[in-house]
Amino acid sequence: MPKFYVYITDRLHEDQNFGLSHERVFTEIYDAESKADVKELVLKDFDYMPKVREKMTSKVPAGERFITSIHELNDYWYDIWLTPHKCRECLNAYTKIEKAKFRMGGSPEFCSSECQKQYNIRFEATTVDSYNTATVYMIIHKPSGKKYIGVTTRWLMQRWWEHIKAQSGSPFHQLIQASSITDFTFEVLEVFKPSEHDPYEREAIYIKQYDAVELGLNSVGGHNKEVAN
Ligand SMILES: [Zn+2]
Repeated sequence: MPKFYVYITDRLHEDQNFGLSHERVFTEIYDAESKADVKELVLKDFDYMPKVREKMTSKVPAGERFITSIHELNDYWYDIWLTPHKCRECLNAYTKIEKAKFRMGGSPEFCSSECQKQYNIRFEATTVDSYNTATVYMIIHKPSGKKYIGVTTRWLMQRWWEHIKAQSGSPFHQLIQASSITDFTFEVLEVFKPSEHDPYEREAIYIKQYDAVELGLNSVGGHNKEVAN
């Protein structure tokens, strides 16, 4: 059975200067024997069968608010509209027709403009932190007041996440495993360019300043060193 791609545009929001910027209000793909059958299906789904623009090049009928376009699809275009893609941000599957139907927006790699926005924010943060920034941070276990100091040249939130998930067996990671996330604060002590200061030197200075080995949760010389808990 032939397949038809249908969309209806609303000219109410038509731009005075750029007369063709219509807003799409309905998009669907139908299996139907003829254009006449397609019109029946649109009437059922849209409750109204607006005037059909017969060709892309034909003049838009004057005085009509809604205009319908109906295109018969060959297999090539049918596949383009119906092939599932994986969103680069949320990893969910989506098809082009779903995106069009629900007006999700965003470039072809994303299921929605929202996912594209999230991806760009994350990518930017990763890029900046990965290449230009070293961050010394301090994690405090609030019930005991004990401190852990670390440094990273990567994305800061990723490092925090790694600590939460870590199974190293170190006293610090054991304490995280045994606690609730609300027992901890995470703060940034210093941000600098790794080309200007040695990150491990800066970290060592803060560990000493806060006495984070004797009174806190840092281990020196590997994970086996006993640290009072
Ligand atoms: Zn997505």
